[in-house]
Amino acid sequence: MSIIIGKDFFMNFCPICSSAEIIKTIPDDDNRERDVCQSCGEIFYVNPNIVTGVLPYNDQGEILLCKRSIEPRDGFWTLPAGFLENGESIQEGAERETLEEAKLHVSDVKLFTILSVPHINQIYTFFSGKIANDDFGPTPESSEVKLFKVDEIPWEELAFPTVIKTLKIYLEHGDEKVFNEVLEYKR
Ligand code: ZN
Repeated sequence: MSIIIGKDFFMNFCPICSSAEIIKTIPDDDNRERDVCQSCGEIFYVNPNIVTGVLPYNDQGEILLCKRSIEPRDGFWTLPAGFLENGESIQEGAERETLEEAKLHVSDVKLFTILSVPHINQIYTFFSGKIANDDFGPTPESSEVKLFKVDEIPWEELAFPTVIKTLKIYLEHGDEKVFNEVLEYKR
């Protein structure tokens, strides 16, 4: 089976019956084109992925960022975040990613941004979280993990528009309410 995740998606072989007869068609009682196996009839629905993460802060007003050591955007700074796994809540996923990417635990975890990015079929959720340990540090996914004062944030070297948006919302409004936004990219 060959799967390309992203805007376009295709399969070479059916994961159910191994047939190569997969075509794009609109199934009965549906209104969108899907990949449908012509051999076993399986319909492959593709839905948006959820990315979940944390904006970690401390009492000194500093924010923790990770320098990515993996593609995409290797070498750019980001908030710890990643794809939600099956069987976990968005908060569990955010805390797991924070531990995996920064060896960081957080407390007082609070949802504050939900960002829909329809053109890449992704939903981002970010929580604010108070830094709970001081032995955070680099990991296989992050070459550096560092605290930034607000006026030191490397805006030109941030990895993703969703990270920029989340930092801007936090600095402008704090985390007292949840922001539900749609990010439209220039095409
Ligand atoms: Zn099949």
